[in-house]
Amino acid sequence: MTDEPPDVCPVFDEGSTISYGNCCAHERTEIEHFQRKVICIKCRAVLDPFEVLLQYARKERLAAHTDESVREARKRLAALEAEERLTKARLKNAKRKDADVAVAEAKKALAEKHSRAMYALDEAIGMIEKAKRNLETQT
Ligand SMILES: [Zn+2]
Repeated sequence: MTDEPPDVCPVFDEGSTISYGNCCAHERTEIEHFQRKVICIKCRAVLDPFEVLLQYARKERLAAHTDESVREARKRLAALEAEERLTKARLKNAKRKDADVAVAEAKKALAEKHSRAMYALDEAIGMIEKAKRNLETQT
């Protein structure tokens, strides 16, 4: 195979990796109905109708495959969005539960401090009353 462009430009082949430089890809065509010819709109070359039909069929298959891929991608996206909503709800619930645990622990710690303070206050009152009684017995 040579790198020289062919005398006649081939009909565009989407799977081909061969490049013919400035050769027209004949991507847009028109039909000359009465002459039964297919002509490239860009370069005006007369094309093989069967090759044009093949190109059209390839594009149709590609479009159908692309549509299916888009539908699949949308389904996956919807599933991911649903999973995201569930995860956010679980996270929010977990944070609320963590907050509830923290509040309960704080209340318990506060109750213990209050209890110790009341015990210390009772002792102080007892000492004051004892001191008062000592003062009364001395006088
Ligand atoms: Zn052309």
